[in-house]
Amino acid sequence: MTRPDVALHDQVAAACLLMRDADHVVVLTGAGISAESGVPTFRGADGLWKTYRAEDLATPEAFAHDPRLVWEWYGWRRTLVAACVPNAAHRAIASAARERPGFRVVTQNVDGLHAQASGAGGPRPLELHGSLVRTRCTRCEQRWDDRQPVDATSMATLPRCAACGGLARPDVVWFGEALDPDVLDEATRLASAADVCLVVGTSAVVYPAAGLANVTRHAGGRVIEVNIAETPLTGAATIAIRGTAVDMIPRLLPASPETATEVHG
Ligand code: NAD
Ligand code: ZN
Repeated sequence: MTRPDVALHDQVAAACLLMRDADHVVVLTGAGISAESGVPTFRGADGLWKTYRAEDLATPEAFAHDPRLVWEWYGWRRTLVAACVPNAAHRAIASAARERPGFRVVTQNVDGLHAQASGAGGPRPLELHGSLVRTRCTRCEQRWDDRQPVDATSMATLPRCAACGGLARPDVVWFGEALDPDVLDEATRLASAADVCLVVGTSAVVYPAAGLANVTRHAGGRVIEVNIAETPLTGAATIAIRGTAVDMIPRLLPASPETATEVHG
């Protein structure tokens, strides 16, 4: 029988070669990549807030029923994320995106950590599910960057639109809502053109995001998965690496010699 550490070493080596030789790479990330930055995942052990499941709060019905409660949860998440910083996996992905023209990031995360890691340079990560640090008017649809703490003590203190006074909502895509068609089209185009789709830290159960790896596969590209657990995608992946994002991603995307000199010099 193969020793697990030898098998892992071989898988990482094979994945490194695929990554190195690919002209077009799309990285698809989920909550797992931010877990080691301290952002809880939805389906992990610490995925509950008070007694609520995310699926019961991140919906248009929940907001219609009790906007104060939903804003209180988003306010808590916004404060939590404000105290987190990008980790080594976000940073390795951001430098690859800066250095390689065909390398793009598509994320389901709303924490903004990919954008923070990439800074001003390089292409912006596509945020399929919106952002915690953006707010949108439910009446006139205006949206704005918003890192303010949320005061959800009463309906009267909830965020409002400066233009029309309408009730505002987090600018995220909730369960049961459609993704922005332009963002989804761009992500699908990137996935179908990719030689490699690297899927990191997603339970691969939320569609259409989870389908993007299959778009790559059906177009003849390879799929590499990095996750601490098995997912519905694992069986179909060309290489499935069992490990944490922070441990594995910097190994798959080593810094180029010039960058390494800059960092250590
Ligand atoms: P999920 O919570 O359903 O799944 C997380 C996945 O990450 C699991 O498969 C788990 O095994 C894996 N994982 C956990 N820790 C890991 C680590 N250290 N390294 C590698 N893998 C790890 O998250 P999802 O698939 O992204 O889907 C849930 C939805 O929730 C998404 O739509 C997303 O928008 C939203 N969400 C976002 C955040 C965020 O922005 N950080 C956090 C929670 C949920
Ligand atoms: Zn408005």
